[in-house]
Amino acid sequence: MCGIVGYIGKRDVAPLLLEGLQRLEYRGYDSAGIVVTSPKATGLKMVKAKGRVRDLEARVPARFKGTTGIAHTRWATHGAPSDVNAHPHLSADQKVAVVHNGIIDNASDLRRKLEADGVEFLSETDTEVLTHLIARAQAETLEEKVRETLRVIEGTYGIAVLHADFPDRIVVARNGSPVVLGIGEKEMFVASDIAALVAHTRQIVTLDDGEMATLKADDFRTYTTEGTRTTAEPTTVEWEAASYDMGGHDTYMHKEIHEQAEAVDRVLRGRIDDRFSTVHLGGLNLDAREARQIRRVKILGCGTSYHAGMIGAQMIEELARIPADAEPASEFRYRNAVVDPDTLYVAVSQSGETYDVLAAVQELKRKGARVFGVVNVVGSAIAREADAGIYVHAGPEVCVVSTKCFTNTTVAFALLALHLGRTRDLSVRDGKRIIEGLRRLPEQITEILAHEDDIEKLAEQYAE
Ligand code: GLU
Repeated sequence: MCGIVGYIGKRDVAPLLLEGLQRLEYRGYDSAGIVVTSPKATGLKMVKAKGRVRDLEARVPARFKGTTGIAHTRWATHGAPSDVNAHPHLSADQKVAVVHNGIIDNASDLRRKLEADGVEFLSETDTEVLTHLIARAQAETLEEKVRETLRVIEGTYGIAVLHADFPDRIVVARNGSPVVLGIGEKEMFVASDIAALVAHTRQIVTLDDGEMATLKADDFRTYTTEGTRTTAEPTTVEWEAASYDMGGHDTYMHKEIHEQAEAVDRVLRGRIDDRFSTVHLGGLNLDAREARQIRRVKILGCGTSYHAGMIGAQMIEELARIPADAEPASEFRYRNAVVDPDTLYVAVSQSGETYDVLAAVQELKRKGARVFGVVNVVGSAIAREADAGIYVHAGPEVCVVSTKCFTNTTVAFALLALHLGRTRDLSVRDGKRIIEGLRRLPEQITEILAHEDDIEKLAEQYAE
């Protein structure tokens, strides 16, 4: 799943979109593309290139003007990385352009049907079926055309659609692949990741699965894929554009390792209650009586979050004496698990968008379970789907290898364990001891990182 950026407003769109794509480069990709238009234009202009965003930039002609556009970095799933397979994909009449993150599961069936009907495909991608289906849809409005198309689609998608006959809007939709709107002053942005938005606006709206939106320069509206209007209150992102810069470090990983002390300080801030040797977790919505009724804790995550959850489970067992375990969300969601009302389910995710975790949360909620989120990105899908939760406040994690977020997630679990422990049998004295330990963490991290040169030598020696 890769990157989408879109813009509609008054500014020259190509430089804006290229800059947005650069902000998404950290996610990895193999090719990139951009399509632009403007209210007065008669058609769409498109450039695509295999390789880096700067290869794309080099191909963009001087007269590539427009005030509306969508762009993409692709991570190939269907068809090799190449110029033609790069997104956007255009319809035969060159009127419809689509960028897509995700996988269309029934693409080969749909492709066969379209080909039998005389449609000529240019690329090997699953995405291209969307373009032709939207172009051939009978409905009148662009929203209806997209909706008509999504009805026959199976799979995951975050899409942005531009249509030459409707140059005043971008239509987007989401199912399993993040789509975030950025609300500006007489301009609107859309991206698959807030990293591409924060340089322009901090007012964001994250779409839910099954939700669509129409963006116009001075307005946006959201609705379900069935067409029912939804309400979307923008939330404010705390992260600044500068927090995505390398800040003098050689790599994001190095930068984020060195941000750990500060990050741990943030996850603790305002949460420790010295008077009762416990912690306040504002987002938890769990009174002491409810906390005492919990008979099991089941932690669900993927990758690093799952590993942080394993540590969390140990701490909860030890401090709160509640049986706890962690399970990969990707296993849990497929195994028809028994859902128990006395179990506290905890969903862990840095981005708050991890698809398997989100799917597990949705299934749990459907079965009436109580689900907590331990999430880094405020306002993300898992944070909103969960009944309550704890934000881990690690700040943006750009490096794909998790460092500070892993640390903060384990600290968040320590807080949860302490909180549950203190509503049960953990003594004031033990509570105090743990709080003191937590408070010392930032300083200890700084102390350890002062020995970086020695650590580096050891890492080289033992890495294999
Ligand atoms: N499945 C699409 C393709 O292979 C989109 C991949 C992506 O998410 O970047 O072109």
